[in-house]
Amino acid sequence: MTNATDIIKQSEEVLVKTYNSQPVVMDHGKGSYAYDSDGKEYLDFAAGIAVAALGHANPKMLETINKQAARLMTCQASYATAEKLEAAQLLVDNSCFDLVYFSNSGTESVEAALKCARKWAYDNKSKSANEIITFKNAFHGRTYGSASITEKRRTQPFFEPYLDGVQFAEFNDSASVRSLINENTAAIIVEPVQGEGGLTPANSFFLADLRRMCDEHNICLIFDEIQAGMGRVGTFFAYQAFGLDGVIVEPDIACIAKGMGGGFPVGAMVAKKSYGDAITVGTHGTTYGGNPLACAVAATVMSEILSNGFLDHVNKVSNYLFEGLQKIQGASGKIKDIRGKGLMIGVDTEFDIKELLKALQANGLMATQAGKATLRLTPPLNVSMEEAQQALIIINKTISEMS
Ligand code: PLP
Repeated sequence: MTNATDIIKQSEEVLVKTYNSQPVVMDHGKGSYAYDSDGKEYLDFAAGIAVAALGHANPKMLETINKQAARLMTCQASYATAEKLEAAQLLVDNSCFDLVYFSNSGTESVEAALKCARKWAYDNKSKSANEIITFKNAFHGRTYGSASITEKRRTQPFFEPYLDGVQFAEFNDSASVRSLINENTAAIIVEPVQGEGGLTPANSFFLADLRRMCDEHNICLIFDEIQAGMGRVGTFFAYQAFGLDGVIVEPDIACIAKGMGGGFPVGAMVAKKSYGDAITVGTHGTTYGGNPLACAVAATVMSEILSNGFLDHVNKVSNYLFEGLQKIQGASGKIKDIRGKGLMIGVDTEFDIKELLKALQANGLMATQAGKATLRLTPPLNVSMEEAQQALIIINKTISEMS
């Protein structure tokens, strides 16, 4: 038995089975590459599912982590720190938002948004205005609030009761949303690009319609940008990539996490002042959220994403990958659909997705599954053109071998 099979087998004995085991053990990473415990190299187009925004072992992140860990890792959440201020300021200065609540994960950012929106509606609409409209195929997380607004709840009755007052509309279908709005609707929550659901971008008309409906009926519009935000779709916040006639569709609240910490666990809910003000002392909080170490890392990652030319690079590599995939589609006849935005790319093929992922892994490319059968590519945002080319070569080779 190799060391790797040992580790996998023993892990299965002591870990709750939340995932099926991968056949290899991950050991370390550098830039866009990850290495397993046998030393095999993989081009990492999973990046922890859109997390390692700056790749592995990024020198700027390492410097921040080392310096900040030696100085101050934690303090009571009630204290201000220069690091928390810097991270919050970056979010506020580069968006339409005014207030920031730091969390440790995506699902906590969603919980904060749901509480904030319901409190806002209670204060500003009526005490019974607590309904949330969400979407089919949406994914918002696994804690009770976020699981309640995720369609999968329908297949998991063993966790009931979920939150009451949740309605599921059709994604990209304004009429279906309109039919669900009533005087008790507190919020609409939407992913600008559905991630786990299969990499489906919202269309700008639809998001503009949501904005109009929310304005008309005094409803809070929440964007879940946990996967799509922080540079992933070619803009800092994902909402900035969606507009009609040059007018950007602004949400009232956004949820972020994943790429924001580049691998360090950190998230946030960001809100326009009139919504964020609904959370008052004692109504919400966290022990770890906003700790100096997480905020210092997030500030480093976000500064890099906002640095000159970074987002241009994301868009350039994105175009290159989409064009390359289209060429493979034309030549192979095995690709049914290519969709997504920026470096959040979904590919439907004729192959069994599990077999395809296994074959790609064997050929040195790590990727993930989204939806029922979509190949998801979410490389580090600073992936080089050469690495993107290498990924296309591996995908082409794998598809030819499987054909
Ligand atoms: N929302 C979206 C859109 C996500 O993609 C995810 C994670 O994949 C989450 C929420 C939950 O984030 P976390 O796993 O950090 O709790």
